[in-house]
Amino acid sequence: MNIKVVVPVSGGKDSQTCLKLALQSYDKSEVLGLFCDTQFEHPLTYAHIDWMRDFYGVKIEIVCAGSVQEKILGLTNPRFPSGTARFCTDMLKIIPSKLFYKELAEKQGGFEVWLGMRSDESHERKVRYREKINTEVYAPNDVQNHYPKYLEKLGVMFRLPVLDMSTAQIFEILNGEYNPLYSAGFERVGCFPCLASGDKWKRKAFIHDETGRKHWAIVKDIELQIGKSVFTSKKEAQRGNKNNDDLFSGCLFCAI
Ligand code: SF4
Repeated sequence: MNIKVVVPVSGGKDSQTCLKLALQSYDKSEVLGLFCDTQFEHPLTYAHIDWMRDFYGVKIEIVCAGSVQEKILGLTNPRFPSGTARFCTDMLKIIPSKLFYKELAEKQGGFEVWLGMRSDESHERKVRYREKINTEVYAPNDVQNHYPKYLEKLGVMFRLPVLDMSTAQIFEILNGEYNPLYSAGFERVGCFPCLASGDKWKRKAFIHDETGRKHWAIVKDIELQIGKSVFTSKKEAQRGNKNNDDLFSGCLFCAI
C-alpha cells in the first residue's frame, strides 16, 4: 500500500502528536515516520523512537547523514551552530529528508508530510507561520524555504496539524506517553543538548547524567580543536559551571 503521510519524528512531543493524529485518519500501513539521527541524541530519545514504533505499530525509517561533531569539524571555518547558523540542521535533517521525500515520491507518487511545528514554540515560528492554518496543505517551499520546488511537482505537500495547539493540549493528547526527558525538566527534545540552544539548556544537559557528561567531553574536545567555546555568554564560557538564565532559542528545523 502507498504511503499517504510521512511524519518526521524527533522523539519530541509535537512530532509524536502529529504521528498520533495521522494514525487517527489513516491506516498504519499508510503512515510512515522518519527519524533523522544526528548521533548526538539521548539514549532515552532513541528508546522513545523504538517505543513509538512498537506502541503505534507504525514503521519509522531512520536516516543518518553523519554526526553533529563531524559536521562542526568538517566546516572550512569550524564553529558551533547558533540561533542564526544551524548548519547541522541543514546537513543532518533538511538535506536527508529532502532526498528521502524525493525518492519516495518518485517510487510511489505523492504524499503529505505532517510537520510538528507550533506557533506557540517561539516568536520566530509565530512570525514564520502567521498566515498558515492547520487544515490546509502547502507546497514544501512555502512552509520551509530550504525545500525545493520540485517536491511539489512530485506531489509532496506539507501540513501543519498542531500549528495552533498549546503545550497543554499537546500533553493532553499524549496522555502521559511522551519522551521521559520532558519529566526531567527538558522543554525540547533533539540533540542532547542542541548546541545552538541557550547556555542554560546546554549546561543543564551537560550535568544531567552520564550521557550529558559524555557529550560534554565530546564538546570539550571540539572546543580544544577549534579554539571556541560552545557557550555564548562570556561568563559561562569562562566559569563553565554557572547557571545562566538566557532563553532557549531552540532549533527551528530540528523540531521535525
Ligand atoms: S538540534 Fe541543534 S545541534 Fe542538533 S542538528 Fe539541530 S541545530 Fe544542530
